[in-house]
Amino acid sequence: MDGAEVNSVERYFTNIGKGFWTVMVGMKVTMKHLFTPAVTIQYPDARMAIPERGRNRLYVNMDDCIGCNQCGMACPADCIKIETAKSLPTEDLGTTSTGQKKRLWVTKFDIDFAKCCYCGLCVPPCPTECIYMTDVYEFSEYDRNNLIYSFTTLTPEEAAAKALQAKEAEKEAAAKKAAAAAAVAAQKAAQAAKAAAAPAPTGSQGLQHGVPPVVTTTATGQVTSPASAGPGNASPPTGNGESTAPASRPATQLEKPAGLAENKDDTKDTAN
Ligand code: SF4
Ligand code: SF4
Repeated sequence: MDGAEVNSVERYFTNIGKGFWTVMVGMKVTMKHLFTPAVTIQYPDARMAIPERGRNRLYVNMDDCIGCNQCGMACPADCIKIETAKSLPTEDLGTTSTGQKKRLWVTKFDIDFAKCCYCGLCVPPCPTECIYMTDVYEFSEYDRNNLIYSFTTLTPEEAAAKALQAKEAEKEAAAKKAAAAAAVAAQKAAQAAKAAAAPAPTGSQGLQHGVPPVVTTTATGQVTSPASAGPGNASPPTGNGESTAPASRPATQLEKPAGLAENKDDTKDTAN
């Protein structure tokens, strides 16, 4: 056997060894499970535990829902539909378990699980933590419409009645507001008309800066008003009944009449 033949036989057995080793490596996992106990569970009689933070079917506790629609706005698939109606002031809807007062009737709260992608984005924004994921993951349906879950606690008739009641209350409040605005406008208009109808003050007779017109008495006992004395001649009377006439008044108006003085002298003579 020459050297070339020896090399050929050696290569042959080497390849057989490599092939066997490759098969053994490939079968390593299979061989491992061949000798370990079976882990198959008898589903659906037996079920695997769901991870604590697993995302499955949603649930809404309507006792705590305030109808704020935060979950609906956060949903990227737009599969949450909520409709609400304002409650009347006389209605008490109670409070949530977190202490928030409920003011809205939730007349519609539908989640379309055919659209839901189980992202869980609707859960964190809820202020009362009433929407959350459950461990329910088997809810397949033959009819797609059956995947729309309604969570409202009101019957369709009750929901329609609440919606109508809220609409009427809204209309009534709007009418009251409009009537109040009209009354205020009418009052303002009446005040403006009264102010326009009042006579405007003229000349020096009118109240100027809130000062009433002054009446003066002349030396002859004549009573003059600013109108008769002429503008600028009005002055208050002094303590003895004489008026303090301004310098511009004519002197003749302040002198005693000649006839009056003569009569007094005649009286003196008679007494003597
Ligand atoms: S889990 Fe995601 S897709 Fe489903 S309802 Fe919530 S936000 Fe929408
Ligand atoms: S965020 Fe919560 S409280 Fe607000 S509508 Fe959704 S479920 Fe109701």
